[in-house]
Amino acid sequence: MLEPVAQLLILQNTDQRLDEVIQALRALPEEKNSCEQALINADRKLASIYSKSQEIEKEIKKIEGLIDLKRTQIGRYRIQQMETRKNDEYAAFNKEIGLAQEVITQWEDQQLGLMEQSELLKPDMERATEVHAIEHKRLHAILATFDGRSKNLLARQEELQEARPPLTLPIDEEILDRYERLFKSKNGLAVAPIEHGVCTGCHMQMTMQTILSAKAEKEIITCSQCGRYLYTEED
Ligand SMILES: [Zn+2]
Repeated sequence: MLEPVAQLLILQNTDQRLDEVIQALRALPEEKNSCEQALINADRKLASIYSKSQEIEKEIKKIEGLIDLKRTQIGRYRIQQMETRKNDEYAAFNKEIGLAQEVITQWEDQQLGLMEQSELLKPDMERATEVHAIEHKRLHAILATFDGRSKNLLARQEELQEARPPLTLPIDEEILDRYERLFKSKNGLAVAPIEHGVCTGCHMQMTMQTILSAKAEKEIITCSQCGRYLYTEED
């Protein structure tokens, strides 16, 4: 391989790894954020199931209170009933007491319905609690890796940044400038091999002359379409 091309390839390899590290570092905050959001969502989901159950319990207690009041009322009717000597008043109290007892029966039925709902929720709550615990553990395990990953990536970035300048030293300034422009504009691929007669950077078929020139390794060859530096490892 032509020496400048070999030097460019080594530089490109380092630049590509540096790009990967930089992208991974950039992606970290968002990754962490989505992990934290997933934790909040898991908490909310569990809380909503628990609050449903709490609402039912509250409703049951509320009805319990109403029933107590009604029973107290019935007690008062009975006392008043015992104190009256009038038959029609006595009968009127009987009617009131009967109505009050009917209301109590209705409320008790409501309570039973709510208690059934509450029972049905219990397996859901148990399952949700288990799922929540597993999810919490998983997400916290991921969250715990972020500091380490960030540190590793920063160290790797520094290492690659330090390795880069010596690699550029032997390269001709004009070639290096062109390489850097290409690397930025061509998605991190400034030097590409010709494979099966095609530039692997832009997939254009190369002319026989270009292929032969690349094989001759007398001068630096570039792709007439994409401008990338070319080389060939084929015979
Ligand atoms: Zn090309």
